[in-house]
Amino acid sequence: MYDQLDSLLELQKIDGEIDKLKRRKDLAPAKLKALENELLKHKQKLDIKTQEIEEINKKRREWDRKLAVQQALMDKYKAQRTSVRTNKEYAALELEISEVEKTISEVEEEIIKLMLELDGTKDELELAKKDYQTQEEIFQKKKEEIILEVKKINKQIALFTQKRNPYISKISPVLMNRYNDWRERKGGFLVAIIEGQTCGGCHLTLPPQLINEVRKKKDLRTCNSCGRILYWKEEVDEPQDKKET
Ligand SMILES: [Zn+2]
Repeated sequence: MYDQLDSLLELQKIDGEIDKLKRRKDLAPAKLKALENELLKHKQKLDIKTQEIEEINKKRREWDRKLAVQQALMDKYKAQRTSVRTNKEYAALELEISEVEKTISEVEEEIIKLMLELDGTKDELELAKKDYQTQEEIFQKKKEEIILEVKKINKQIALFTQKRNPYISKISPVLMNRYNDWRERKGGFLVAIIEGQTCGGCHLTLPPQLINEVRKKKDLRTCNSCGRILYWKEEVDEPQDKKET
């Protein structure tokens, strides 16, 4: 069964790549959500400006009504001028008229202030609209990029998944089940390469006797600490280099 470990190691490499791709893919929804939230902020700024304009228009209508009331009063007083008989009545009426005139000019000042405020806010609204349009274009572009990236990742995952098949056919169902079970329960990989004196999975030192047994490449041996199947990788390159020199 030890000879199947070569295939299992290759399978691990492929699955490692698939895992990396899936992790990258899993980031996509959060990235998209962040972009949506960013765009929403700009939309809110736009909504606030629209609301402000509504408020100003509402105030404007109130002041217009006040002006109409004062103007009606003015018309009434002016009409009374013809029926005034005494100087005292005349003086009293003129006093009323001058009071109304004062009020009218105050109301008109308020209306002018509101008109200026409206102009300013309309300019701000236009800016907010343009800003939102720009942000929406940026959002759409980035969204398309994310969708494209996910498509690319899916293709790569499909390619790697195909690459698994030749190795799976060389691994016995028993070992394959063990491998799958390990992945499900622990999330990592079942086979660990011995690195010097340590297990490549948990990095704890292995007894020399265990290493010797693994080097015989006959039975499957596991790390006492983490339970991974141990694999001895021959250093092929080093001896060759030594021969050449
Ligand atoms: Zn270990």
